Amino acid sequence: MAIVGGGPAGSFFAYFLLGLADTMGLELEVDIFEPRHFTHSGPAGCNHCGGIVSESLVQLLATEGIELPPTVVQWGIDSYVLHSDVGTVRIDTPLREKRIAAVFRGNGPRDAPLTDQESFDRFLLDLAVERGARVVPKLVNGIEWEGGYPHLQHPDGTAERYELAAIGVGINSNLLSVLESSDIGYHRPKTTMTYICEFLLDRETIEKYLGTSMHVFLLDMPRIKFAALIPKGEVVTMCMLGDEIDLELVESFLNSPEVRQCFPPGDLPAQACNCSPLINIGSTAQPFADRLVFLGDSGVTRLYKDGIGAAYRTAKAAATTVVFEGISAEDFRKRFWKVSRSISFDNALGKLVFAVNDILKKRRFSRRAIFRMTALEQQSTTAPRHMSGVLWDLFTGSAPYREVLANTLHPGFIAHISWNLVVSLFSGAGRRPGKSAIDEGRGTNGRSTED
Ligand SMILES: Cc1cc2nc3c(=O)[nH]c(=O)nc-3n(C[C@H](O)[C@H](O)[C@H](O)COP(=O)(O)OP(=O)(O)OC[C@H]3O[C@@H](n4cnc5c(N)ncnc54)[C@H](O)[C@@H]3O)c2cc1C
Repeated sequence: MAIVGGGPAGSFFAYFLLGLADTMGLELEVDIFEPRHFTHSGPAGCNHCGGIVSESLVQLLATEGIELPPTVVQWGIDSYVLHSDVGTVRIDTPLREKRIAAVFRGNGPRDAPLTDQESFDRFLLDLAVERGARVVPKLVNGIEWEGGYPHLQHPDGTAERYELAAIGVGINSNLLSVLESSDIGYHRPKTTMTYICEFLLDRETIEKYLGTSMHVFLLDMPRIKFAALIPKGEVVTMCMLGDEIDLELVESFLNSPEVRQCFPPGDLPAQACNCSPLINIGSTAQPFADRLVFLGDSGVTRLYKDGIGAAYRTAKAAATTVVFEGISAEDFRKRFWKVSRSISFDNALGKLVFAVNDILKKRRFSRRAIFRMTALEQQSTTAPRHMSGVLWDLFTGSAPYREVLANTLHPGFIAHISWNLVVSLFSGAGRRPGKSAIDEGRGTNGRSTED
């Protein structure tokens, strides 16, 4: 069997396929075609991403017996700090444990000094190899169908026949356009733009300014859907998603007071590395055919969040299908498709949640209401954490969007947000823009906010 792409989706698929096959006494040969080594620094060695492994995925991996080693986890994240023009509030993980892992997908930024760090993708690929997969360091640039079997083609003109082709090439691969123009009925999922850059700083500075928190920004910059700063040892990764992201928008975001307060005073350090990959925000209508299955980003992923978690889910579902059902389109429809469809359905609810968030983000008084409610909840040890829970799940991607939506429909949430909207509407009248009503919140890295 062939897996095209040795990112999380491809490696998880090989890992589960070989594990299940072994349990069932089946002998399988699995080749993973992956031209990257994940040991080079900079864009060439990495699968461009924020590098957050969600709380839920860290837990799921632990139940599979997969512990992320300290060389892979660059920083343990235990909280989120939400920044806006109306204040800063910190949301702690419900159990105050560093359960979210910040990792590198390659060997760190282009100009970073090499240390004993290990790439997350290399770690996963090695797990697959330990189970018996063979890594072939070759690009696949086409698939021909002969006698109903996929023949993988390479730029050097060679080709091999396989029983099954599992496509886990992400969303930025040219192979997807090639497959789209063939007659297998594949349509590449919808995408949006992103920008990722990394700054090199010393550990003490990162600890002082960012701590063990991921910093997210609720700013009235309409083209930004999501923006965050992620501390990772001696590196800070900035990730931005949205429509029509250009360098002007990146500059105005980086120069906003909310972002500048996360760095030492003076000029921002130079960007050690940057890239602008596309991110999947849709799904392909049917991520399978006879002897063909699309894993991870090439098929469907979670909207804006936990893409690695979605790669894990789709890969495991595909592996289970192959071992317990078979490799025909009908087999994938029976079992694998349920998982893909449930992710797509959840994304539709996610779109609704983000649409409401966009509306709330636009008005200063509603931003104040969100901050006020969160800050009050974080200060109390007994108050129910309605807003904190919703924001936590929304930022971390730890819960499905249907749960996030259900939590916003809880009578307690509605009562508290309504009250805070009223208070913020009236307490905000006459205040100078830039002055905050959120004196209650704890600031960047836990300090008090007086903006
Ligand atoms: C800006 C940004 C930030 C993100 N942040 C996060 C985050 O913090 N946490 C999170 O969980 N998700 C995040 N994601 C999403 C996450 O990166 C993806 O969902 C995840 O990497 C999907 O895994 P994959 O294996 O499907 O694809 P990929 O990780 O893209 O891996 C595809 C692999 O296929 C290989 N390949 C490509 N073409 C070919 C070919 N023709 N032949 C052979 N091999 C090929 C590539 O070299 C690569 O190794 C982010 C995405 C973006 C764009």
